[in-house]
Amino acid sequence: MRDIVEEIRRAYETVGIRLDQATTYGTYYRLLCGGCGRMVGIVGDGLLPDMAREIVSEQFDLYAAGLLGCACGHQRERTQTLDPERWQASRDRHAD
Ligand SMILES: [Zn+2]
Repeated sequence: MRDIVEEIRRAYETVGIRLDQATTYGTYYRLLCGGCGRMVGIVGDGLLPDMAREIVSEQFDLYAAGLLGCACGHQRERTQTLDPERWQASRDRHAD
């Protein structure tokens, strides 16, 4: 497996999202919820090193607030475990 794909996989893993098999074309990977397996998006493997981690980090607030990710709440729980302080701050900011 290519390094960049492994990097993308690890980045999404931190917030409770699994990388599925490559699509037929091999340039896009489905993102599956680590809790219930539902598809929550796709990601291309054309990212540059460190980009996947930055994207996931930027999306942290949205996962924490439940505005992004799966309806089952798995990403919300994972982000809470990952960084409770940032999680709470995100919740407060998006409460109103
Ligand atoms: Zn789910």
